[in-house]
Amino acid sequence: MRFPSLGQALAAVPCNAPRKAPAFYRGSVPLAGRGSYDPGVIPPCVKSWALCDPRSLRGVRGILTDIDDTLTSDGVIPLGAVAALAALREAAVPVIAVTGRPMGWSRDIAAQTPLAAIVAENGAVAVFADALVERGVRIEYADDTATRGANAVRLHAVAARIVAEVLGATLARDSPGRVTDIAIDHGEFAHLDAARIAQVVALMQGEGMQATVSSIHVNGWFGTHSKLTGAAWVVRRLFGRNLDAERGEWLYVGDSTNDELMFAAFPLSVGVANLADFADRLQQWPAFITEHDRGRGFVEVAQAVLAARGA
Ligand SMILES: [Mg+2]
Repeated sequence: MRFPSLGQALAAVPCNAPRKAPAFYRGSVPLAGRGSYDPGVIPPCVKSWALCDPRSLRGVRGILTDIDDTLTSDGVIPLGAVAALAALREAAVPVIAVTGRPMGWSRDIAAQTPLAAIVAENGAVAVFADALVERGVRIEYADDTATRGANAVRLHAVAARIVAEVLGATLARDSPGRVTDIAIDHGEFAHLDAARIAQVVALMQGEGMQATVSSIHVNGWFGTHSKLTGAAWVVRRLFGRNLDAERGEWLYVGDSTNDELMFAAFPLSVGVANLADFADRLQQWPAFITEHDRGRGFVEVAQAVLAARGA
């Protein structure tokens, strides 16, 4: 598959065009739009991304990024962000997506988007484009088959309990593609208020699960894996590198409370502007925040990394 350069694609993307296409990425999302966020909610220690010293970006080995509301806007990846991914690939800067989304949802995106890999289900699953395997995508798991089988029974039981006990709680619509976790929709197609989100988290934790809250779902799983362990696994798997030993040379981009672990782990951590939506719940902010929100914010990050390398 051939992708346009960043400049070509951005020039071709109409701003404020109607949003019609149902595909998971499209060119009609207004890339020129800015979020209307109150700068007063951003702590002074979080710098504007525009102030990042280009010298600190020259040695970046790769970018790790969340997907929902970081690469995507309204559930799709705008063409400008796809072009940014293509331009980074062209410049030999691999981008690995690290998401709470399921294996089933990630498979098509891994096959058709210029990502080096997707770490799905909060670190439990790795999805790689590979032309040599069926459907062009290779799937690998952090846990062995026996562990996944035993956990599946427990996951099913906890999911049933949440739906029965938390008023209005429903499973996320992408649940059929999930293999190692459960997800409760709080903001994608359903709405749960903060008290009910907290109730879901507490119930998951009470059952011995890990739980995180993304911009759209509450995810819960058994095991010690996380976005950070999953990223380290895939960096080792793809490049033979030790991510824990070189965190200063990788950049992380995210948008919500389920990115806090990664914000804390990477000195070059960036929030897209809509991170401000979580200002009242964030305990760990990134080092930088972009001017623009969602996919346009990611493009802002890519442009700076590419410019610092002279690409
Ligand atoms: Mg997100």
